[in-house]
Amino acid sequence: MPFRSRYTGLIDRYRDRLPVHDDTRIISLGEGNTPLIRLHHIPDIIGKDVDIYVKYEGLNPTGSFKDRGMTMAVTKAVEEGSKAIICASTGNTSAAAAAYAARAGITAFVLIPEGKIAQGKLAQAMMHGSVVIQIQGNFDEGMALVKQVADHAPVTIVNSINPYRLQGQKTAAFEIVEELGRAPDYHCLPVGNAGNITAHWIGYCEYSSAGGEVTKACKFCDGNCRFAGGAIVGNRPKMVGYQAAGSAPFMRGKMVDDPETVATAIRIGHPQSWDYAWQVQKESGGWFDECSDELILAAQKLLAEKEGVFCEPASATSLAGAMRDIKSGKIPEGSSVVCTLTGHGLKDPDTAIAQSTAPLINIKPTLDAVKHAILDNLN
Ligand SMILES: *Cc1c(COP(=O)(O)O)cnc(C)c1O
Repeated sequence: MPFRSRYTGLIDRYRDRLPVHDDTRIISLGEGNTPLIRLHHIPDIIGKDVDIYVKYEGLNPTGSFKDRGMTMAVTKAVEEGSKAIICASTGNTSAAAAAYAARAGITAFVLIPEGKIAQGKLAQAMMHGSVVIQIQGNFDEGMALVKQVADHAPVTIVNSINPYRLQGQKTAAFEIVEELGRAPDYHCLPVGNAGNITAHWIGYCEYSSAGGEVTKACKFCDGNCRFAGGAIVGNRPKMVGYQAAGSAPFMRGKMVDDPETVATAIRIGHPQSWDYAWQVQKESGGWFDECSDELILAAQKLLAEKEGVFCEPASATSLAGAMRDIKSGKIPEGSSVVCTLTGHGLKDPDTAIAQSTAPLINIKPTLDAVKHAILDNLN
């Protein structure tokens, strides 16, 4: 008998709030239940009295939050008899699709932009045995193709336009509320397709008691969300979405055809959840903003050096934007802020090494040389 407390993934944990049946075969790798880490040094560095937490989604089984959505999408695909799944991806969706397809014993087809996905993600898609299709185009072009081909071949799309993805991803908001005992005042996320910011808002709304808002929020899930009651909190956060400056359709107010950024996971010019995300911004009273690649990389490095948390560049966009808005007072002192760190730093070692300024010390293998290396570098 397994221990009753053994953690078996987010569908098991939030079964009553997700569209599964008692006899549904759950395809899980133990995703979810990620740490909410309170930052100790960065608030001092900013010089403001704020509580900043990072939700370290890089600790999911394939190293990104995509696992939350993929456990639901693949579980439902299998339940519906599908033998193959397909997605377009900037990397992390393909890694998750490949792993969950392997777990389920079905085939994953992944379309990725040639030369524009981080090495770790490519390694994952290949190792898990998915069929990797590289296109000479960007994510948006891949997405358009995937939507078309699904009408011509027996494959289930597992991009975030698959409604089960958002259902799985909303559980991150549940975890945060349960851990803090309330919703934070601000929740900051990097935005690409804007599925995740939408999913978090669904989750917060379902947890909130505010005058009938629970039913209202369920328009996102066509009313098939079965959550009713449970622990209720009164507040919901302002949702803040940050984009990379070279890939910021929400700032431009229209689609961007040639998105470019070092944060490849959010190199998306035609967000699939465009309308939902604007609705989230309006309903929550939050905002969108953009960060330069330099600011994003600086935040990634600061977080790794000062807090011991390593995330990929796209993930650091949430912290980069939050730090700027805290400094300027747009996010006022006394606030609680959660920044989602969407993916693990090891996903993209090339970018990390290229921007690191840490000296590599080369010495002869002698005691004297090691001793000097230490004494010369003690603070
Ligand atoms: C997918 C992804 C995002 C963007 O999420 P959306 O739901 O597309 O807005 C951000 N960061 C990382 C690391 C991702 O993998």
